[in-house]
Amino acid sequence: MDIPETGMEKRKRTICVFCGSSSGSDPRFAQSARLLGQLIARHGFSLVFGGGGLGLMGEVARAARDGGAAVTGILPEFLRHLEPPLAHGEQVVIVPDLFVRKHRMVAMANAFVLLPGGMGTLDEFFEVVTSAQLAVHAKPVVLVNVAGYYDPLLALLKHTIAMGFARAENANLYSIANSAEEAMDIVIAALHLPQAP
Ligand code: AMP
Repeated sequence: MDIPETGMEKRKRTICVFCGSSSGSDPRFAQSARLLGQLIARHGFSLVFGGGGLGLMGEVARAARDGGAAVTGILPEFLRHLEPPLAHGEQVVIVPDLFVRKHRMVAMANAFVLLPGGMGTLDEFFEVVTSAQLAVHAKPVVLVNVAGYYDPLLALLKHTIAMGFARAENANLYSIANSAEEAMDIVIAALHLPQAP
């Protein structure tokens, strides 16, 4: 018999955050990262991320941990020293390489939220949307377009459709949020969770 889920126990879900290992040039990026981490904790989610305590990755993870969320970092062996984990409160999983890391993060997550980031973050965005395109998973993907950071990417994605290299429905593989709050609302709705208590 299915037991109906209610309240916080239904929130035992994991959000995977992909974002920069740098903080970027606009202070709104780090502010959004901290807010996203706080919201992850406040809404009773766990966090899985790339493991490093640097840049926006570190901001999200520290805020989630300080708010009481379980935080798991997936770190490839060779990045242990280049992207060291948080000083405490992070469960670190060491994997052999970037490929295994991405796959472990995708497997653990119920939803993906992307903040601004560089090429690594773009790689992770394309990993989750291209695998959704091929129906490898059907997990929500939310791009947080902080301060219009992703406008050029969104224009390029539109261009791929306009030029006949992608189907119009591909635009439904991800959602666009303008803030961390909006991203959280989208995730909660997509996972059919009750709104915050
Ligand atoms: P970046 O957005 O470039 O700062 O990178 C964000 C995260 O993505 C960092 O933890 C990088 O280690 C990671 N990353 C970079 N390149 C790759 C890749 N090819 N596959 C998976 N993760 C990557």
